[in-house]
Amino acid sequence: MNVDAQISEYYDKLLKRNAGEPEFHQAVAEILHSLRFVLEKDPHYADFGLIERLCEPERQLIFRVPWIADGGEIRVNRGFRVQFNSALGPYKGGLRFHPSVNLGIIKFLGFEQIFKNSLTGLPIGGGKGGSDFDPKGKSEGEIMRFCQSFMTELHRHIGEYRDVPAGDIGVGGREIGFLFGQYRRLTDNHESGVLTGKGLAWGGSLVRKEATGFGSVYITEEMMASQGESLSGAKVIVSGSGNVAIYAAHKAQELGATVVAMSDSSGYVHTPQGVDIELLRDVKEVRRERMSTYAAEAGEGVSYVDGGNIWEVAADVALPCATQNELDGESAQLLVDNGLRYVAEGANMPSTPEAIRVFEQSGVHFAPGKAANAGGVATSALEMQQNASRDSWSFDYTDERLRTIMSNIFKNVDATAKEYGREGDYVLGANIHGFKKVADAMLAQGVI
Ligand code: NDP
Repeated sequence: MNVDAQISEYYDKLLKRNAGEPEFHQAVAEILHSLRFVLEKDPHYADFGLIERLCEPERQLIFRVPWIADGGEIRVNRGFRVQFNSALGPYKGGLRFHPSVNLGIIKFLGFEQIFKNSLTGLPIGGGKGGSDFDPKGKSEGEIMRFCQSFMTELHRHIGEYRDVPAGDIGVGGREIGFLFGQYRRLTDNHESGVLTGKGLAWGGSLVRKEATGFGSVYITEEMMASQGESLSGAKVIVSGSGNVAIYAAHKAQELGATVVAMSDSSGYVHTPQGVDIELLRDVKEVRRERMSTYAAEAGEGVSYVDGGNIWEVAADVALPCATQNELDGESAQLLVDNGLRYVAEGANMPSTPEAIRVFEQSGVHFAPGKAANAGGVATSALEMQQNASRDSWSFDYTDERLRTIMSNIFKNVDATAKEYGREGDYVLGANIHGFKKVADAMLAQGVI
């Protein structure tokens, strides 16, 4: 069978076995497209059912999460943990609390995580988890009780050398605190390496909070430098206004760019003079309010577009940092028509396949999420290193390690794209470089 037929067969089988999971299909389709190039050169990567095994999670957990609302009503949510691949190390990947969460979304995120974690060069496998719980509008007490109930089941399946969850959408430092507290209570064990994103006083790492956003900007810098350009003076759009977005905006401005727009799921804020990071952090991190509040308090020249499309703002660089499929083909075309030249994905799979096609055809330099947002998990692995050695590193040292990791990711991705005769195709470079290390480990470890 030729390689194209072989890949189509894998994909058809996967669609049948995983019906109703479009995001998972999308993530696998992208990887399989890149693997065509690998299998043509190195057919042994199809041996021992490697591709089928790679696309099948090692373990998928689905569990009931009952909790009591402030008014005494009983609520029931669904919890997930997909332990996708541990060939390189313990499962590692965040927890997402959002009403849209279902098994397919967690599988797409867990699958992406395998390659991303491999790209960091650190010994971590891929996993992801979460719940369809909606933290919006819940009291602190409700969030705590939900986290405690979630951990009451999850604690049976995780551990410092087994599976190490972290944050993602809807799960920040506060939630990690509640989860960690309940883990300790249930296990009577201060195993700090069991979760990352912890508070600094109880095993957390400096730079972890900033890492995903900073890392996506570091890789943007590398990508621009490879074209003889820099962020200094560039106009940047950052979608979202959560953990990743805030620190992407912060670092981009520190390096001389102007962040001209940010958003949340209700609308976007146009900030032609740049974003006031202190005010943004106060509104989002301290008061937990909306971007409309930021716009109302930011003063002259700042406007709020309720329900608007952030991608209609003209910019040189786009950093999509909100959620999957937030940037479609039409929006990509709009960005290109307005002069866009660089994209680095802070979020996971924020660009649709059509959007990526538009960027490719228009010569836009595009760093996919697997590479561009790997700084978060990489710094989580640095947190694990500090926990294991009972140490805590300085901000500058940790930031420098993050910067080096992002620089190496860019170099490896760039070199792999060139090796396969596709210079500048960072999607292909990231997929293949991430894949090979995992695949070699799986082949070495036998059929398991
Ligand atoms: P947060 O919960 O801190 O922030 C999420 C942001 O995205 C909010 O501004 C939210 O707006 C917006 N958003 C969420 N869902 C939607 C939606 N359906 N439509 C429009 N906007 C939406 O999450 P993070 O910043 O942690 O995560 C953002 C992205 O980055 C995710 O794709 C995540 O998987 C990825 N990522 C995160 C890492 C991390 O370290 N945190 C690591 C690597 C990747 P609103 O408040 O209105 O919901």
